[in-house]
Amino acid sequence: MTKKQGDFAVRSSKNTGSWKEMAYAGVLSFLRRRYTRDLNGVDVAVSGVPYDGAATNRSGSRFGPRAIRQASTELATLDSFPFGFNLYENLNIVDYGDCFVDPHHPETIINSIEKHAAEVILTGTKMLTFGGDHFVSYPLLKAHAKQYGPIALVQFDAHCDTWEDDGSTFDHGTMFSRAVNEGLIDTSKSTQIGLRTYNNKDYGFKVLTSPWVHKNGVDEVLDVIKSRSDTSPVYVSFDIDVLDPGFAPGTGTPVSGGLASWQVLEIIRGLGSLNLVGMDLVEVSPAYDHSEITALAAATIAHDWLCLLAQKNGAVPQKTTN
Ligand code: MN
Ligand code: MN
Repeated sequence: MTKKQGDFAVRSSKNTGSWKEMAYAGVLSFLRRRYTRDLNGVDVAVSGVPYDGAATNRSGSRFGPRAIRQASTELATLDSFPFGFNLYENLNIVDYGDCFVDPHHPETIINSIEKHAAEVILTGTKMLTFGGDHFVSYPLLKAHAKQYGPIALVQFDAHCDTWEDDGSTFDHGTMFSRAVNEGLIDTSKSTQIGLRTYNNKDYGFKVLTSPWVHKNGVDEVLDVIKSRSDTSPVYVSFDIDVLDPGFAPGTGTPVSGGLASWQVLEIIRGLGSLNLVGMDLVEVSPAYDHSEITALAAATIAHDWLCLLAQKNGAVPQKTTN
């Protein structure tokens, strides 16, 4: 029998493993994972939420999921660095496709996203979700809090996103206030990393600004996150604008003075001991990107978070560096 090559996403009958692909062609799924909504035995469902109606400045993050899938194709051909194993042999991941968001009926959007997430989470499968603007985290948190109780939020962001919320706005800068007010987040367990804007109210979040991270380093950041979240269910909400615009130009509200991609990758790679229940990665806006810098950073950060779950599944390094 001829060995199968190409389009694993639509031709494979199983979720794990991989085969040879053309990195520059073929059907796009995240990391070439199989497209399916069958969650039997699935550890993680990857999904997009292409909604950017809550952006305050540049829109365009509705194209984020597609760009991140495209930028992931090279990663799909490689063993995972620096983890030293093959992710696709060690974690059952599928591409669940995108949440259907109807921009012409905005009153349906919050429910659509929450329902989409709940369908996955209630089966015990974890979610990795690509925005969309950061507002999509609100319905995602609603679904997660229903399943896991109040969430320890680990938020990477240039912005606090806790500006005043009236309980009904579509605003990617206020939805965490609403989430706190609705009891979805346990702020005493939560940390915000990389901020470089002021808030009116911190709600009890621990804020590690970008200058603080630059001065104190990755290990100190990890100590704070771990000591706060302890054994609580941790949801990572990653706004790509936490990166300096030099590392992530393709986003809606860039702010200078941010983190480097190596810094955030080291922080993400240090979160493996936490009780990780879900992640979103938002605000990638490809029209403002150059040479896929932003989308590649996003794909790599998401990939490395999956590697943490593979480690929990017992994946051990098969390869080492000197
Ligand atoms: Mn932001
Ligand atoms: Mn944000």
